[in-house]
Amino acid sequence: MAEISWTLLQQQVQACTMCPLHAGITHKVPGQGDPESPLMFIGEGPGQVEDEQGLAFVGPAGQLLTRMLQAISLPRERVYICNIVKCRPPRNRTPLPEEAEACMLHLRMQTALVRPKVIVLLGATAARYTLGPEVRITRDRGVWTERKGVWMMPTYHPSALLRDESKKKDAWQDMKSLRDKLISLGLYSDLYGRDGKDDAP
Ligand code: SF4
Repeated sequence: MAEISWTLLQQQVQACTMCPLHAGITHKVPGQGDPESPLMFIGEGPGQVEDEQGLAFVGPAGQLLTRMLQAISLPRERVYICNIVKCRPPRNRTPLPEEAEACMLHLRMQTALVRPKVIVLLGATAARYTLGPEVRITRDRGVWTERKGVWMMPTYHPSALLRDESKKKDAWQDMKSLRDKLISLGLYSDLYGRDGKDDAP
């Protein structure tokens, strides 16, 4: 088996026809950000703007995510962001299980390359395919799980916050919990780009 690399991953995603989602898309959306970040965000799949640009989380939901990161003083360029599926599902529907499972090959490669210490799972699809099918986002959001030294927390997808403002209070609690987890692991000051948790907002 070929050694994994970012070049191989990009080639593999661009050439992938492992599920029907590749038909009719404008661009594949592999993900982007700091390839050595200790913090990774995983969403569901590209939307219209992401499909047009080939970049993850650049539409309205992505802009909200950027503001949420700013609220805990994390520069977005210091984190890595991707999705469960790399092709936009028609009309933004939820990926089918066979589509998500096919694309997990790419996500496993990304995780092996980034080697994050903390992963935030944005929405039910990301949480279920990563933590297990029993996860319920309204019940389990904000709960930390550690697996093989990696801390994972589900929270609402930013698109859910755009549809229902009442969820923003819980999402803000989750962002503060993320900041506290990064501080407790000694990762916050690295990401924050300043020297110490005393600077935390
Ligand atoms: Fe391949 Fe993933 Fe696109 Fe399906 S969604 S065609 S598995 S890259």
